[in-house]
Amino acid sequence: MKCQAIMNIMEQLAPRRLAEDWDNPGLLVGSPKQDVGKLLVCLDVTEEVVMEAVYNHCDMIISHHPVIFKGMKKLRTDLYQGRLFQKLLINNIAVFSAHTNLDAAVGGVNDVLARAAGLERIRAFDSDSSRPMEETVGRIGYLPEPMTIDEFAAKLKAGLGAEYVRVVRAGDKIIRKVALCSGAGADFISRAAFLGADCYITGDVKYHDAQLARENEIHVIDGGHFPTEFPVVKVLAELISAKAEEAGERLEIICDTASRDVFEVI
Ligand SMILES: [Zn+2]
Repeated sequence: MKCQAIMNIMEQLAPRRLAEDWDNPGLLVGSPKQDVGKLLVCLDVTEEVVMEAVYNHCDMIISHHPVIFKGMKKLRTDLYQGRLFQKLLINNIAVFSAHTNLDAAVGGVNDVLARAAGLERIRAFDSDSSRPMEETVGRIGYLPEPMTIDEFAAKLKAGLGAEYVRVVRAGDKIIRKVALCSGAGADFISRAAFLGADCYITGDVKYHDAQLARENEIHVIDGGHFPTEFPVVKVLAELISAKAEEAGERLEIICDTASRDVFEVI
């Protein structure tokens, strides 16, 4: 299968127009013309992930976080980033990234998170009023039955397969309506409260974000950046596989098993 054909599948699954202006999605390493027999799907292109791709004879990596994000000023192979690109190029491995476009896409990172949280009647959460609703990143939905914050936090932790979640408790308010934004979405806490959510799920919550949540009387569950996004890896691999099969192409796909959350609790 040509790399270009996989890029076309990715355009269907996570259209580039859904990406934020500051983002850097697309084919970031390699050529659209190269042949791809085996593909690895991951969240981050780390050295461990590249080694896993090399070991498994993969020709391409699809990542959520762009492998090139800010401007690169050097490619020194004695430093981490240079070594990473050296390994990719020596082994002829292409890298395609779908970041905020995959966050916003139907069936993307946030829909996967909403399903892991057990939400129903899921719709887009208008965190950005300059865009049509269906193209925004966050999601809002309802629990099948009302829950306490303790019950819901335990359910979410199990749903994400996370080792822990951090909870900002806004009194003993019962949870019916839940808003969420995977990864680093603490900026939308007030918006979620304004939309009537009883609880907001995201990652990377800071101290003052947590205080703001309490002031707005909304519970917050910080599920962690990695755990709120990693579930998309398996789902994306299945979606690409189904599209390749539909097109009558032969493509082997594996999911990253090398990555772990960078945070641990001692
Ligand atoms: Zn992220």
